[in-house]
Amino acid sequence: MNLVTATWTEPGNTPVALLLLGKGTDPASERGVDCPGDLPAPSDPDLVARATAAKAALGDRVFVLGHHYQRDEVIQFADVTGDSFKLAQQAAARPEAEFIVFCGVHFMAESADILTKPEQQVILPDLAAGCSMADMAVLGQVETAWEHFQDLGIAGDIVPVTYMNSSADIKGFVGRNSGVVCTSSNAKRALDWSFEQGSKVFFLPDQHLGRNTAVLEMGFDLDDCVLYDPHKPHGGLTDEQLRNARMILWRGHCSVHGRFTIDSVREVRERVPGVNVLVHPECRHDVVRAADYVGSTEYIIKALDAAPAGSAWAVGTELNLVRRMALAHPDKQIMFLDRTVCYCSTMNRIDLPHLVWTLEELVAGRVPNVITVDEKTAREARVALDQMLALP
Ligand code: SF4
Repeated sequence: MNLVTATWTEPGNTPVALLLLGKGTDPASERGVDCPGDLPAPSDPDLVARATAAKAALGDRVFVLGHHYQRDEVIQFADVTGDSFKLAQQAAARPEAEFIVFCGVHFMAESADILTKPEQQVILPDLAAGCSMADMAVLGQVETAWEHFQDLGIAGDIVPVTYMNSSADIKGFVGRNSGVVCTSSNAKRALDWSFEQGSKVFFLPDQHLGRNTAVLEMGFDLDDCVLYDPHKPHGGLTDEQLRNARMILWRGHCSVHGRFTIDSVREVRERVPGVNVLVHPECRHDVVRAADYVGSTEYIIKALDAAPAGSAWAVGTELNLVRRMALAHPDKQIMFLDRTVCYCSTMNRIDLPHLVWTLEELVAGRVPNVITVDEKTAREARVALDQMLALP
């Protein structure tokens, strides 16, 4: 365990103006988009049978992807489970499937659309399944920041890097400015490559992944990183701060991983002696510093699979995954890091009624909730995704 001792203070979470899910629309956001259709009642006892029958009727025409954070009732129908990038790759590896039903959130379906063939259709069972982190970086805001960097004469030194958890628009921006996409598994490699291309990185949209990777994996000082707040003039930073910074972090975070605090870690260590604290790098810097292990969702799954019987684990990631791992390993004590449990509310928008509705619509010859990225954005985003695939 390694507590942060510097004078540096962990920034508070970025406020998010949440619309009530499913109520109203915000065109600049992935959230709050009404979902069309006549959904079956959640209490319908035939939902499992209906999903099974519809999926069987569609056969190889449909391929169902399930993100690790999805509900069990949905995961049981997934042809493959994984993190966002693995799922997009799996979709691309199934050119025979006409329909890719993406049980995840909007930015993931966009990535699948970018990577699959034009004739394949990617479907999100509930259009209100957005991602609050992706929503924290809107293209107009990012372009305003970039124009300021150009005015300061530093844009030529900066390589933009975006986390996979961003909209296609942001990936397109990064692609047209010679940057790269990264995942939580390859963020260090992406930063190593970026610092060979330039002397600064503009990291979008997750401040925590950017900071944790730069400081804990690359040996940067916390003072090498500045936080660009899109709601303040010039990001709330002086020209000197921007000129001196090596990492310009966008002020975004994941509302699930951002909720874990240093107190969650202290509390579980007192309550469960000998517990191993395992967290995702989207967690706050002080939490990651205080944890025993840090890694991507796939890393967390492998660590828990390999853990010895009888060991205790407090896991700082999404609850559906933690619960599923606990059920899969009854010989290990696997618990949620925080005592107040919390799902990703937008991931949870995809439930069995939405999946049944989607599959039955496809059987009836109607294709609902297609996610399409326009050609120019897809081409530019593909440049940044291909650069990630080419990382050494
Ligand atoms: S867990 Fe966090 S990053 Fe993932 S979809 Fe939910 S809000 Fe977005």
